[in-house]
Amino acid sequence: MIAIILSLFLITPEIEESHTDTIIDNSSKSEYLEVDNKRIPWEIKDAVIEALAYFPELAGVAIDFEFKEKISGSVMQAQPRILTMFIKGKEKREYRIKITRSFDFEEGEVLIEDVPHDALVGWIGHELGHIMDYKNRSTANMMHFGMRYMLSNKRLTEAELAADTYAISCGMGHQILMVKNYILNNVNFEDSYKNKIRELYMSPLQILSLQEELVEDES
Ligand SMILES: [Zn+2]
Repeated sequence: MIAIILSLFLITPEIEESHTDTIIDNSSKSEYLEVDNKRIPWEIKDAVIEALAYFPELAGVAIDFEFKEKISGSVMQAQPRILTMFIKGKEKREYRIKITRSFDFEEGEVLIEDVPHDALVGWIGHELGHIMDYKNRSTANMMHFGMRYMLSNKRLTEAELAADTYAISCGMGHQILMVKNYILNNVNFEDSYKNKIRELYMSPLQILSLQEELVEDES
């Protein structure tokens, strides 16, 4: 068991970090909304609450939304809290979503809450899609998945497609499309990040066709 835990730490070092982690200490200025087992920075509470409304299955699930100064290669990142995977049952697992506090754009610093509303809601919805995916996996499956995720682009793509698919099937097609367009049409994001979005994630066209299929299924 210890070997498994250790290998998980080695392979997915991002999952749980030490307490010296640089969560921005906004305690003097930032307030949190604590509701339904969620801890949400005040600045983005409207967008988070709006996104959560699409995921009734996440009611009561513990999720901490945390501002970070920088996340390597991503703007947001959803993770299970690793200790809760072992101590508690699948139902009581806790999660966190790390969120980049601001962007250094040409025109100056842009705070995350200044991202166009629907795109921000979609961004958060994508991360909630990851949590839906994690929530439905056993701890053993999650560890396997975590390793494969780190080792293969194919698994990474699958994880991203799963997250988008969860969000779109919860009715967030419009917002998921908005965030893709926001990133791909924004000169301020680096090409390497845009290429990652193009290669690993659902394209705007795929989003539209999935959305259409879902609408057809419903009618
Ligand atoms: Zn993702």
